[in-house]
Order: sequence, then structure tokens, then C-alpha cells
Amino acid sequence: MSIQEQSMRRVTAIRNGTVIDHVPVGKALSVLKMLGIDGSMSNPVSLVMNVPSQKMGGKDIIKVEDRELNQNELDRLALVAPDASVAIIRAYTVVEKMEINLTDEVVNVAKCTFTNCITTNPREPLPHRLIVCNREPLELRCHYCGKTQDIIGLIDNLL
Ligand SMILES: [Zn+2]
Repeated sequence: MSIQEQSMRRVTAIRNGTVIDHVPVGKALSVLKMLGIDGSMSNPVSLVMNVPSQKMGGKDIIKVEDRELNQNELDRLALVAPDASVAIIRAYTVVEKMEINLTDEVVNVAKCTFTNCITTNPREPLPHRLIVCNREPLELRCHYCGKTQDIIGLIDNLL
């Protein structure tokens, strides 16, 4: 094992939990927000930001100990880190690699960012539906008002 591999192992090794690797630089905090991780839980969470990466130039890594993220939780990450790689770890071993899927419609993840949208009316309880109209770069439109969403604004509007 090379020294570089050793140092990467140190960065990524946890006993049990979930490692989210290849997160775009600077997106780690958004990922935590999308997962509802705010530091009030008892399990350890570590962030490594701006790690050198051959594939991406730089990347962020998140380790969530003692928690295995499920597919639903992971698919939320499609808005900020669609190409992240996710590994479920048990006893220091990768037992499962999971993919983040960007579906054609993102339902009940975030609210439309336009204040006049029908979905902001509490008397009209509607599912929050955002249509994926482009993947690269990511572009989402509200199913109801048709407005193109600002991704940063959406992250502030997570459900
Ligand atoms: Zn809308």
C-alpha cells in the first residue's frame, strides 16, 4: 500500500456507517443539510473538505458513523452531489455500494422557491413536485407554476 493510499484509508476508514465520497468541493455542508444532519444527533459525523482527487481535482468526503443511509435519503443528494459514491461500511468493510439516482421528478424534497406558487398556500396541501428538465447542468422546474428553480434557493427550502 502506498503512502497516499494509507493516508486515504485514514481519511475514509470508519467501523460502521456510511461514507459519501466524491462530493463536489464545497458541497459537503449542503449534503449534510439535505440529509437533515445538524450535529444534534449522538452519532459522530466527520467532514473532510478539499481532499486532492485525481478524478475531480478536489472533493469533499463525509463519514456518518453508526448510520446506514437508505436509498430515499441518498436520492435527495442528487440535487447537490449527483455523482457522489456511497459505501455502506460494517466492521471496517464495504458491504454495499449505493448509487444516487436523479429521477425525472423530485417529489417532496424541496419547496418551490416562488412565493406566489400554489404550493405555498397552506389551504392547498399539494405534493411538492419539481420536474428535472436538464441534468447537466441541473435544471428543475416547478410542476405547478412552471418556474425554473434556483438550486441554492431550493437547498434553503428543503422539506
Ligand atoms: Zn411553483
